[in-house]
Formats: sequence, C-alpha cells, structure tokens
Amino acid sequence: MIKKGLVLLLIVLILFSGCTKKDIENNVIENVIKKQLQSIEDKDMKNYLTTIDKTKPEYVAERKSWFRDIVSNNITTLDMEIIEILKSDKNLVEAKIKQEYSFNNKEYSITNSMKYVKRGNNWVDSDLIFKSISSDNFSIYYPKGEKEKAKLALRGAERAYKEVYEKIGLIPEGKTVIKLYEDKERLRQSVKLSFPWKFAGWYEYPESIKCIIYNSKDKYFDVISHELVHKITIKESNNNLPYWFAEGLAVYYTELYNVDIFKMNNTLDINKLEKLNLEKMKDSNLIKSYYTSSGLILNFIANKYGEDKIVELVKKLGEFSYIEGTNIEVDKVSIERFHKVIPKVLGITVKKLNEEWNNYEK
Ligand SMILES: [Zn+2]
Repeated sequence: MIKKGLVLLLIVLILFSGCTKKDIENNVIENVIKKQLQSIEDKDMKNYLTTIDKTKPEYVAERKSWFRDIVSNNITTLDMEIIEILKSDKNLVEAKIKQEYSFNNKEYSITNSMKYVKRGNNWVDSDLIFKSISSDNFSIYYPKGEKEKAKLALRGAERAYKEVYEKIGLIPEGKTVIKLYEDKERLRQSVKLSFPWKFAGWYEYPESIKCIIYNSKDKYFDVISHELVHKITIKESNNNLPYWFAEGLAVYYTELYNVDIFKMNNTLDINKLEKLNLEKMKDSNLIKSYYTSSGLILNFIANKYGEDKIVELVKKLGEFSYIEGTNIEVDKVSIERFHKVIPKVLGITVKKLNEEWNNYEK
C-alpha cells in the first residue's frame, strides 16, 4: 500500500512539474479561441456568444455584428494564435493574440493585446486591454499608457455632447462608451473584417462609439460629434434610418454649418444613394460624394420644409418596430419605411422630393 501511494505521489509530482503556469494560461485561452473559431465555422452565434464577457453589453453587441459580417461574407480563413502571455492571475489573463484572415484575395494580419476573464466557471474574451476614465456622460476606454490622449478625448466628447444637443435638442441614451484604437486597421478589424476601407470613427446601435486615437481635442470633437448624432438619431428612429439618411443627418448636423466645400458639381440623388452600398465602395471620390450629397439633401429638406421636419422624420421612423442589425443590414426595410414616412411628414412622395432635389440650385 505504501509503495503504491509513493508511486502515485511521484506521478502527481511529475505531472505538476511538467505542467507550468504558462501552460495552464495557454490552455485556458486556447480553449476560448478554439471554441470561437469552431462557432464561426459552424455559423453558431449562440455558441460564439458563450465566449464573450456578458458584463460588457456593448462588447456583446459589437461581437454580434462582427460575427454576422464574417458569416454573411463567408470569411472561412480566420485564424487566431497566442503569441505571448502578458499577465495572469486567478481570474484574469492578458495575452497577445495574432489574428489572420484572407478576404477578396488579400491577406490580413494583426496582433491584438486581449483580456480574458473568469466568469463563474468559464473563461471568456473580454475585449482588448483597455484602461478607462469617465465623466457623467462618457466612459473613455483607451490603450495602456495613453491617459493624456484619453483626457483630450473626454474634453472633445463633452463639447460634442453640448453642441450636438444644441442642434438636435436630443441627448444620447445613458452613459456613452467611447473606445480609442491605436490605429485605423485595428479599428476596422474590430468592426467588420469585410470592410474595404479605413475610417476614423464608428457607431452601430447599441454598441460603443469607436474612434481612432488622436492627440487633439478638436479632432475628437469632429469624430465624436458625427458618431454622437448617429447614436442619438438611430435610437430615436428605433434603428429605422436608411443608410444614406443616417450619414446625411451626421453630416448635416456637424459639418454643414461652417464649411463651404459643399458646393459640388457631382451630387448624388436619393435614388442613387438608395442603391449604393457605402460598405462595399472603393472609390474615395464616390465615398466623399455619398457623405456630402446626403448632408446636402438634408440641408435642402430643412431649407424648403423647415428645420423641425428633420427631427420629425426621425421620430416618425421611430414608430416602426425595431429590427436588430447594423445599418447596412436593416437598410432595405428602412428605405421602405422612409418611403411611407416622407408623404406623412412632407406631404410629397420620395420620387417628387428627389425631383425637387435634382432641380434645386446647388
Ligand atoms: Zn457616419
């Protein structure tokens, strides 16, 4: 009996000494990653969401959109790999994770610093490693070592909050989370892997506002103003804004006031805007025209029918039911609803409105 016990003890000792702390951390994260990749392969959103930290509702919403984009674009090449364990304790592991995929004959690779936490018995993905500061209206999430830039973001955001409220007369729901990203590629990959161009800011209901990291409160003011208009109007419309109309609102409320560059020759009309997909565009002139034309059409409506009609249109759209999805996913239904709302608010059809816009002196 004693002998057997000794042998067992020896085996246990050997097993323990062969299995280092690093191995355990690697295993914990590897299991999360494996489950994520398998759920993506199986197109199983429910299973994928069991790997996401539920204490962060905006992160859950963001990952839902991210997951649907991968599945609907059939991105089958996604891979994730542990590069380095940065930190660990009983309920938290931080690690560098390399993420690679190919799409439309292009290869993409990025290394993210990720946080994994233990919730109950499960280890889950808890987003990039962010530090945070907050005020009554905002929480700013920022990369380690960038507190000064985060403070600038908070100041830019507070000014944006005030000015957007002065223009629209509405405030964003709850405390707004703003995440700052070190570079545009990281921001793009955190939103949609299929997205063909890089942007400085992003918002989808009910996600956080995402923004590139800047060293200027004015830059933050510009980007966050635009995204705050999205947050307010998408909520007010119950996620029923046609894509072009959503961008038009953001441009109209934040850029048309003081800029004269909007006198353009090649404006798009509502008919064309409804058919375009901003998220598939590659021509930068067309992208620019999409935004400015949309803003100008809103400006035209405000001039001809009254500025209060803009918010009235948004509120009227908000009487329709809520459909979950990113702006582009709900675009078709939103356009149909927009066509029902325009006659009620402006007393003309969208077709007639478009004719008026085409004849309008630009
Ligand atoms: Zn926008």
